[in-house]
Amino acid sequence: MVKLYLKPGKEESLKRFHPWIFSGAIGHFDGEPEEGEVVDVYTSKKEFIAKGHFQIGSIAVRVLSFQQVPIDLAYWKKRLAVALDLRRSIGVADNPENDTYRLVHGEGDSLPGLIIDVYAKTAVMQAHSAGMHVDRMDIAKALEEIMEGRIENIYYKSETTLPFKADLAPENGFLLGGSTDNIACENGLKFHVDWLKGQKTGFFVDQRENRALLERYSNNRSVLNMFCYTGGFSFYAMRGGAKLVHSVDSSAKAIDLTNKNVELNFPGDTRHAAFAEDAFKYLDRMGDQYDLIILDPPAFAKHKDALRNALMGYRKLNAKAFEKIKPGGILFTFSCSQVVTKENFRTAVFTAAALSGRNVRILHQLTQPADHPVNIYHPEGEYLKGLVLYVE
Ligand code: SAH
Repeated sequence: MVKLYLKPGKEESLKRFHPWIFSGAIGHFDGEPEEGEVVDVYTSKKEFIAKGHFQIGSIAVRVLSFQQVPIDLAYWKKRLAVALDLRRSIGVADNPENDTYRLVHGEGDSLPGLIIDVYAKTAVMQAHSAGMHVDRMDIAKALEEIMEGRIENIYYKSETTLPFKADLAPENGFLLGGSTDNIACENGLKFHVDWLKGQKTGFFVDQRENRALLERYSNNRSVLNMFCYTGGFSFYAMRGGAKLVHSVDSSAKAIDLTNKNVELNFPGDTRHAAFAEDAFKYLDRMGDQYDLIILDPPAFAKHKDALRNALMGYRKLNAKAFEKIKPGGILFTFSCSQVVTKENFRTAVFTAAALSGRNVRILHQLTQPADHPVNIYHPEGEYLKGLVLYVE
């Protein structure tokens, strides 16, 4: 196995179990690692400290273990079994009301670069590192074994998530099964998942608990679900007794799926209407009929250098909502950009509120659910931020 020796002193973050090694920390190699290969990492004093997947790029190694263990089928089974156990303890797996959950959340499950979402009988697996791509077959085998009949299909979806420079030529496709049955269930509500063409793994699993909270606030309210994607928040609002629900997304495909999903849960219900339209255009032209607004935009900043523009985006967007929401209205507002901190986001929303001059109170501060755990040694894993606001 290729050995990697760190520069003197560069082992400090590894001693605190941070799972990344940046390229600048590398002293030299003993051997020549391929993209995605597992390498052993040593300090400059030649002491073993970690092992992980090597990749050309700023994050050069993603740590799989701080112990000298083989990275083999038994290793993958062990890690996946721990992940499943966690999902069972928090009540999202093996729950007859809920068969949609994130089984593996990268660093949060000590599996940097790997995402696995479960939708009923199908697991959608996504590699974000070369190493997870290289090891996909072993991972799929381990997954099939530890799931013990819970799943029948594994769909691999990494065409857009791997570094294209690595030339890995990933192909989307089934590694197990091949069923096209795509209806899953979240907290008793059904929805179609488009894992073949949809965004991410097909659904935004990370909003489950925030949607459940919205349900509690929906009774008798007029709801605007802005950036609805496949309508997640909308069907919770309907179950919560909303007077009307309008779902808006710029993607016509997302709107089609939203309509299908509403129909699946509330056939013939006339309280719902969906619009394929740009958010800012809709917010400009809409009236002041809404007293519950959800703003769940895509990540405005994917990199640190886009932060300023992103914060301006959040400010503009939220200012529109503050301007139009009915007195006594409730605003659910989110940011899923990892580079935008909780404080950044709150400042942007604060500025928007101040522009409107209205009295605004924070009722809840939201984050990602427990099946998207944050590894305590990797605070970067915390990405979803939300505020529930009461607007006088
Ligand atoms: N709230 C959703 C997830 C939102 S993801 C859920 O619970 O599942 C962000 C969505 O914003 C995507 O569906 C994307 O199509 C949409 N989007 C991106 N830019 C937009 C724009 N300018 N106007 C309206 N929708 C937009």
